[in-house]
Amino acid sequence: MKTAVVTGASRGIGEAIAKRLCEKSFAVALIYKNSDEKANELKREMLSLGFVAECYQADVSSSSQVNAVFEKISAELGSVEVLINNAGISQQSLFTEITDEMWNEMIGTNLTGVFNCCRAATPEMIKNHSGVIVNIASMWGETGASCEVHYSAAKAGVIGLTKALAKEVGVSGIRVNAVSPGVIKTDMLNPFSESDLDELKKETPLNRLGTPEDVANAVEFLISDKASFITGQVLSVNGGFVI
Ligand code: NDP
Repeated sequence: MKTAVVTGASRGIGEAIAKRLCEKSFAVALIYKNSDEKANELKREMLSLGFVAECYQADVSSSSQVNAVFEKISAELGSVEVLINNAGISQQSLFTEITDEMWNEMIGTNLTGVFNCCRAATPEMIKNHSGVIVNIASMWGETGASCEVHYSAAKAGVIGLTKALAKEVGVSGIRVNAVSPGVIKTDMLNPFSESDLDELKKETPLNRLGTPEDVANAVEFLISDKASFITGQVLSVNGGFVI
């Protein structure tokens, strides 16, 4: 059984990806930061279906926590074959009101977190000459979003990291791609009112908000052998919002 790591697996998109990887017969490490109960609930649900899943608490912005948790995962579940960097935070703020703390937390979680997890996972992948990484970016990383400069900058960084790492580790049998979601109905949209969401829906050519399963479908494709000649790419899952 191959091992997959999903960061931010306790809720939303990460939860849907973790379920999908269990269904695809991976042993899945569920990394979360705070939602102990939700992560354990998901683990129990997966075990009850006969799948293999284990919870690991770590703040992805901390390299020491990430290194320690990847060592634990390798020891308990086996060397990591698939890494899905999904953990993230979002925030709306006028540019002039972004504080050092807000900037550092955003870049720390959404960009340094991806770096930390890739750095922890790749040595074994290189040794095994096999591995797949999928980073969850955002359409705002492609286009930029007003009042989300820090978020957009972090996600643009994730896209740059994806492309550069793909070039470096392709020769070692590792593929690295990004999925770039549009508006996906999760807790991340809680700050938006129903009328805001309706507006976003109307701006989406396919006239609906995305679901976590829409993103999981793209991840499932990218980790599969059907994507064996695809690396360094950004697969947009946005209903046509950004083309
Ligand atoms: P949610 O807010 O629903 O879930 C976020 C997840 O990330 C949680 O599991 C949370 O853990 C985890 N997390 C947050 N910070 C950390 C951290 N420092 N260390 C470890 N885990 C952390 O978000 P979504 O499911 O909506 O988003 C998932 C990804 O998709 C994010 O990267 C987001 O930017 C991206 N995305 C989302 C879009 C959307 O419209 N929803 C659109 C485009 C991109 P815990 O529960 O423990 O706090």
